[in-house]
Amino acid sequence: MTATDNRYSRQIVFWGLGEEGQQRLAESSVLVAGLGALGGTLAQLMVRSGVGRVRVVDHDRVSLDNLHRQLLYDEGDAEQAALKAETGGRSLKAMNRLVKIDAVTDRLSGDNILDYMADVDLVLDGLDNFPARVQINTAAVRLQKPWIYTGVLGSGGNVMVIRPGQTPCLRCVFPDVSPDDSLPGTETVGILGPVSAFAASFSANEALKYLSGSPDKCLTGMVRFDLWQNDFEVVPVKRNLKDCICSPSREAV
Ligand SMILES: [Zn+2]
Repeated sequence: MTATDNRYSRQIVFWGLGEEGQQRLAESSVLVAGLGALGGTLAQLMVRSGVGRVRVVDHDRVSLDNLHRQLLYDEGDAEQAALKAETGGRSLKAMNRLVKIDAVTDRLSGDNILDYMADVDLVLDGLDNFPARVQINTAAVRLQKPWIYTGVLGSGGNVMVIRPGQTPCLRCVFPDVSPDDSLPGTETVGILGPVSAFAASFSANEALKYLSGSPDKCLTGMVRFDLWQNDFEVVPVKRNLKDCICSPSREAV
């Protein structure tokens, strides 16, 4: 950052961040898994906030039915069926030249997720299905890597900060959902643009707390909301120390 580059001045003046918090952000790195509605907004907020290194991974292409909620893309991207990591990565680079963007076209899987997660400080969930989240959770427990779960459907969603070893993991909270279960998705239930943006913003704010040196400010419990029904609650969550993969007495599987 140069002396004349004041792009972060409104963040730095905020009491919770300051120069020190901004510096910590610049020294931090995140993986944004998926670059759709959640991931595109998460990635933009990380890049604009000055997180030093942002890796985005997505295998998909932009389509017209993405545009009502996927704020990183436009009609030209949909007409060309552009790869999200490619065109999104270009946009992210244009937002902030101080951030190192690592944009990768790949399908996240149990085989490669550890590699993408190993060298970052925090993992952000921009995924659209539960099995992929379970893979992140398993890898996070194995690596003892914090991640933020963000799920949306219809007009509602959940957000939870997961710090393996300290907080419940995803499997502590959803022990009965099989990783292979085909749960209803946005194709049948739908999804509203503001709901994705709201959930991603909520998660991005948790990420800023964690990365800037205020992890004690992070949410405990799981936020559950429905923006159509005007329901907001923080659900208490507990570690399943006996049966979960995150139990110290069990090997991560
Ligand atoms: Zn657990």
